[in-house]
Amino acid sequence: MKFFHNFGQSLGTSAHDMAIDLGTVNTVVYARGQGIVLNEPSVVALETQNGVRRVKVVGNDAKLMMGKTPSNIEAIRPLRDGVIADIDVAEQMIKHFIDKVLGGASRLRRRSNVVICVPSGSTMVERRAIRDAAANAGAVSVQLVEEALAAAIGAGLQVAEPRGAMVVDIGGGTTEVAVLSLSGIAYSTSVRVGGDKMDDMISSYIRRKHNLMIGEMTAERVKLAIGCAVPPEGEGMVISVKGRDLVNGRPAEIRVSEAEIAEALAEPVGQIVSAVRAALEQTPPELSADIIDEGIMLTGGGALLGRMDEAIAQATGLDVRVADNALICVAIGAGQAFEEPAYHGVLIAG
Ligand code: ADP
Ligand code: MG
Repeated sequence: MKFFHNFGQSLGTSAHDMAIDLGTVNTVVYARGQGIVLNEPSVVALETQNGVRRVKVVGNDAKLMMGKTPSNIEAIRPLRDGVIADIDVAEQMIKHFIDKVLGGASRLRRRSNVVICVPSGSTMVERRAIRDAAANAGAVSVQLVEEALAAAIGAGLQVAEPRGAMVVDIGGGTTEVAVLSLSGIAYSTSVRVGGDKMDDMISSYIRRKHNLMIGEMTAERVKLAIGCAVPPEGEGMVISVKGRDLVNGRPAEIRVSEAEIAEALAEPVGQIVSAVRAALEQTPPELSADIIDEGIMLTGGGALLGRMDEAIAQATGLDVRVADNALICVAIGAGQAFEEPAYHGVLIAG
């Protein structure tokens, strides 16, 4: 006797199904049966010709242009502040990435079911906008999943259990703190502090202390090289940074230390730590007890800031771990949510 194994197909799923983590800084796509197939900056370069604005390039190519565009080209991040700042451009970006993942598949034969991650703080209007953008990009069905749940699944936490878990996702625009239990969100809060704010603080510190203007990309590079949430003993590592001298306007190079950058980052790190403490104060006691045992899981690119885990551990007295795949675990978790029936409960139907 022949059994009908192709269960997925019978539910109308196809090889073109994908989960999209539409981050403020990076977009990551997980394809059914394949894993992560795309990981590119959420950047769009727009060109204006004869008063008409059109998309020139998207993703990696667009990021290379940031801060270096001629006057008729503008490289923007349509999701910059954690919400969709420019819906038309965001929609074209989603469309571009979906097309790229589907490659040569003809539009008519595509039957993509798409899962998109949304921040818990997003409004109905924002969710509707994201859903419409994916539908306009050719998805036959669009489901949503809360980012915090996806992050937890991707980080390997057992979200379906009646046991509290805390996830702190530190992205580019926002930090989301969530307490999860039974595949749902028991408490969540979000602050508009993340990697972007850290970069801004580094720029303004270097401008103030060293009279040097640096670009956004340079500030990020400094953060990746010597950024630290807890000050080192002494001055720590020292690197050189290039920019424009504010006094004489000439290109210049200065040296900056890990201790200085830790000082520049004290405020955003403090705001993230406060959000975690506030969430712990709001957590129902039974779940708090679980968090004491399980600790806190950090995800998102900001979790990779030097000693971020230590800063939160010091402030809370709890165990803090950084997810193995911090930058991609939201997309991995969202992918698992549609691949594994045990997680289907986290998907919000369209
Ligand atoms: P989003 O989900 O908002 O797109 P991500 O989770 O992709 O954001 O994280 C992007 C942010 O993480 C950027 O601000 C980036 O500079 C920062 N980041 C990435 N790696 C590191 C690192 N090693 N140290 C500090 N920050 C990092
Ligand atoms: Mg994210």
